[in-house]
Amino acid sequence: MFYDWKPYVSVAERRKKAAKQMAKLAKQGRPVAPVVIEGRTITKTFWGNSWCENLEGYGDYANRLPRGRTYARNGSVVDLQIDQGAIAAWVSGSELYKVEVKINTVKNAHWTSLVSDCAGEIDSLIELLQGQFSQGVMQRMCKQQAGLFPTPKEITFTCSCPDLAYLCKHVAAVLYGVGARLDAQPALLFALRGVNEQDLIAKAGKGLRSSAKKPKSARLLDAGDLSNVFGIDLADAAPQKRTSAARKKPPRKRGATKTKRGR
Ligand SMILES: [Zn+2]
Repeated sequence: MFYDWKPYVSVAERRKKAAKQMAKLAKQGRPVAPVVIEGRTITKTFWGNSWCENLEGYGDYANRLPRGRTYARNGSVVDLQIDQGAIAAWVSGSELYKVEVKINTVKNAHWTSLVSDCAGEIDSLIELLQGQFSQGVMQRMCKQQAGLFPTPKEITFTCSCPDLAYLCKHVAAVLYGVGARLDAQPALLFALRGVNEQDLIAKAGKGLRSSAKKPKSARLLDAGDLSNVFGIDLADAAPQKRTSAARKKPPRKRGATKTKRGR
């Protein structure tokens, strides 16, 4: 195998270069959404943690993923877009590399079974997105093969870097980046998997969408707040139609609750 030796470029220099290139793209009207990780842990919420734990739980990736953590933490994922069945990202390495990850959408029978197993367990969209539900529901969501998170067989990826490894550090960084993005915008997981999160909510989210009925819980936010906090458009709840949600910049404030487990 032949490796092209390149002069050492510091992280700061690489980031500067990448920032310039991304600024160019932004000027052309392309939305840019970098993965910004505050603090030591990459993910902090149920959805972000579970996304990462799912990937780490498969032997296929176990040896390869750690290389991506530093990259994800130091801001190398300079752009990350999540759409139905697809993740597109730019990662700053020796150069700027393009990463594309395809993830199968959830099959109807699989989704129906998940929804039926969680029936009546989740009261509102905000509780769903904040991961506020029973241990049973958590386990059901995270169940390998049958939950909401993809198996390695459902994931394919490409990177424009010269690394011939099965899973290069750029792809690994992007996969962690998705975890971080799900902390801020958990609804993107449902969009990515092509399912409607409203199906999981008892009474189909009537309390949220109808202004006539006031939600009983004081914790509930109104639709506008939800849109801001989670980057979702409640007026257009069908995931097939709201791929634009994936292009929104992540909200500044982290709205989701912290779980005990750090990363
Ligand atoms: Zn790569």
